[in-house]
Amino acid sequence: MTLGGASPIVVQSMTNTETADAESTARQGALLFQAGSELVRITVNTREAAAAVPEIRRRLEGMGLDVPLVGDFHYNGHQLLREYPGCAEALDKYRINPGNVGVGRAHDDNFRQMIEVAVAHQKPVRIGVNWGSLDRALLTELMNLNAKLSEPLEPRLVVLQAMRESALRSAALAEEFGLAHDRIVLSAKVSGVRDLVDVYRNLAGRCDYALHLGLTEAGMGSKGMIATACALAPLLLEGIGDTIRTSLTPAPGGDRSEEVRVCRQILQTLDLRHFEPQVTSCPGCGRTNSTFFQELAEQIQGHIRARMPEWRSRHSGVEMMKIAVMGCVVNGPGESRHADIGISLPGTGEDPKAPVFVDGKLVTTLKGGGIAREFIAMLEEYIERRYGSATSSTTA
Ligand code: SF4
Repeated sequence: MTLGGASPIVVQSMTNTETADAESTARQGALLFQAGSELVRITVNTREAAAAVPEIRRRLEGMGLDVPLVGDFHYNGHQLLREYPGCAEALDKYRINPGNVGVGRAHDDNFRQMIEVAVAHQKPVRIGVNWGSLDRALLTELMNLNAKLSEPLEPRLVVLQAMRESALRSAALAEEFGLAHDRIVLSAKVSGVRDLVDVYRNLAGRCDYALHLGLTEAGMGSKGMIATACALAPLLLEGIGDTIRTSLTPAPGGDRSEEVRVCRQILQTLDLRHFEPQVTSCPGCGRTNSTFFQELAEQIQGHIRARMPEWRSRHSGVEMMKIAVMGCVVNGPGESRHADIGISLPGTGEDPKAPVFVDGKLVTTLKGGGIAREFIAMLEEYIERRYGSATSSTTA
């Protein structure tokens, strides 16, 4: 997989199973991959975890899945990567946190050992700085320098400066130890939206390494999704960021793949990548006389999810399609005209009929109990006609 430059922005996720449990980790890695994660990170924290990595790889391949795996190393990565060459080889990329590789001379030595393994196995490395585990020695150094200034910066800015410096100094060190410039990805994650935007703008202005974006510890549910979207959107729109992750806290028993869907939706909403047809639907209001249009919007969304694997293989470009499902005549016909195919359902007091627009033109008006079925049939017919078929049939 190519990262950075003009390559598409890559969606990343991370498992939360115990890596030593190869079966569970492979199963969750497969789910994340099938949900659209293009890089799956797994923690490699113990000897048992390192020993399990080749087995995880084998299990994924046994399912017919070529999942790019990233190993996440803290504290003991230098030992694990040296002692478990099968792990070093089975991984596609290593993530090293420069704040967690030791202190003083041991820091550089441990870091060098990991980089040497990466060079030997021809693996890229993400140097992943996190403000929760920032290099203390570097922070102290910069705080001391700041204190001597005639107009010292506020401590928050010095922390951000230390994050940037930690990433850049580690990247320079990695290159000194033999890692190629284009095999280095940097990240500098914080949990504050404004801080994240500031630190990445600064980092992007100082280097041309590929950058991985993510708001760390984003939180649960809609709070985590919104915070992540708010943090990533300005950067992505400025062309900053080559891989992204949404660090959601899942609800107990929740679906880990949610973080993948959020990343994809962010990219699709920003028109940076397209994964599936986009459904535009209104919120409904006092003019909506039933929940029918909400059910229709949900039904269409479900239909798209279910049909997308086949559509993707047979109908190139279908992911760019726009569908409108609207609740009444106020904005319904207008929004439907802007979509590739749209339906405007009758609101309170309107005639019980639903005009359907295709490519901006009114083509029919649906009535009665079969509106949903008929609209979905029109959708299928539209896709077949507009996006053709990639499959070819041969006759004897
Ligand atoms: S399109 Fe109609 S039903 Fe939907 S929000 Fe607007 S006014 Fe309300």
